[in-house]
Amino acid sequence: MQEFPRLYVGGEWVDPSSSERIDIVNAATEQVMGQVPAGGAADVDRAVAAARAACADWAATPLTERLAALGRIGEGIMARNDELAQAVVGEVGTPSMIAPMLQTGLAAVVFGDNATLAPTIEMEATVGGTLTVKEPIGVVAAITPWNFPLVQIAVKVAPALAMGCTVIVKPSEYAPLTAFMLAEIIDEAGLPPGVFNLVSGDGATAGESLVAHRDVDMVSFTGSTATGRRISSVAASTVKKVTLELGGKSPLIVLEGAPLADAVAAAVQGCYINCGQMCTASTRLLVPEAQLGEAAATAAAIAESLAVGDPAAPETVIGPLVNARQRDRVRDYIRSGIEEGATLVTGGVEPPDGLDTGYFVRPTVFSDVTMEMRIAREEIFGPVLAIIGYSDTDDAVRIANDSDYGLAAMVFGEPDEAMAVARRLRAGWLVINGADQSFTAPYGGYKQSGLGKELGVAGLEEYLEQKAIHV
Ligand code: NAD
Repeated sequence: MQEFPRLYVGGEWVDPSSSERIDIVNAATEQVMGQVPAGGAADVDRAVAAARAACADWAATPLTERLAALGRIGEGIMARNDELAQAVVGEVGTPSMIAPMLQTGLAAVVFGDNATLAPTIEMEATVGGTLTVKEPIGVVAAITPWNFPLVQIAVKVAPALAMGCTVIVKPSEYAPLTAFMLAEIIDEAGLPPGVFNLVSGDGATAGESLVAHRDVDMVSFTGSTATGRRISSVAASTVKKVTLELGGKSPLIVLEGAPLADAVAAAVQGCYINCGQMCTASTRLLVPEAQLGEAAATAAAIAESLAVGDPAAPETVIGPLVNARQRDRVRDYIRSGIEEGATLVTGGVEPPDGLDTGYFVRPTVFSDVTMEMRIAREEIFGPVLAIIGYSDTDDAVRIANDSDYGLAAMVFGEPDEAMAVARRLRAGWLVINGADQSFTAPYGGYKQSGLGKELGVAGLEEYLEQKAIHV
């Protein structure tokens, strides 16, 4: 049992304003594994005041000192990597095979990358006779989801601190444990009081109090598109800056002549990683119509070969979903796919054999999916792959772009042809032929997948204001 009875505000662990607590439930066992405070408006007020009080001094701290602090935080994460990963294996259900790298080690990489990139930003320039000056935006509220709980915090906190902002983190109420461990790491790293603050709680109270707060200058949000809309409208009353990293329904296009088996394997892996709870999951597999049958058979064979079960077991590839609500949602989508006439190739609504406890669903593949179906249009956030046939390349591009979302897209094919297709896709993160992805490149969605960028220089610059001084 991991209990964190206090919030981290103004450089110390403080009692929350109420005795209300949130239980953290293990996704595989359904047992309570931890507890954190259910913070409210009074806790938010206190954290914002601490962040505001620390703002000017932190902004004036030399960049090298701020970046040295980032380095200490990254080292602190690596020193506790196993423990952090275990917490995520429990609260999210990510298999232990990938959690130490994807869920926690990557957070340390993010702190390092931001420290490397920050000095490349030109803070002052002269344009004509005018001096332009970039400055930290001020007090930042970072509101994060449960699917990559520590990494999502790192991609906000690292650039904000690097650029001289102070931060209040409001982690997901379903997976807050690594946020508390990060606060311990930051406490040990010796940041000035108030530079980093942590208030746990649910979205409607702690989250919305932060968004509405007059003394918060910016909200950096990652989560669902529905919450992103709500946050935008609440933030509008105080006209504060909002960046949004939201949902996706990302296509993987297999062009004519591309190696089908390799592309399908990449699609299945990209769709099922973290049990499908990944915003860039390749959930729509677009193949030439003539290859629909072969693609479906290949995807089903892979899906059926994957070890589903206890995420703590070293051989597990697919763990449970995060909670009962999410499991029921995913099962409803599988039901809707069947009802709307898609071909269920493998998987289905029933829990996997022998896995009645824990929030497990069967890795599922649908073929003959059309863009009218909900499973083709809506973000499912579970291991459900929709295979869609296309007639020619223009049709593939049309289908890929026929989405309210525009987060990511993948293309397999002859490199020049794949590049030409990638340029036509309305999405922010494109991967050709399964290329390695750089986490120093800007990341962020088009359309209803978001506003603004994270990672890279663009991610750092989100935390800056710019003024012009005419002399
Ligand atoms: P969510 O929107 O339910 O919650 C995200 C966070 O927002 C939580 O901390 C929650 O407490 C808070 N919140 C909820 N209502 C709020 C309100 N009214 N005001 C302020 N805060 C509020 O999302 P989730 O279910 O935790 O995460 C899954 C979603 O996140 C998926 O849609 C997924 O695609 C998206 N996601 C996007 C990215 C990306 O980079 N684009 C990355 C990861 C997850």
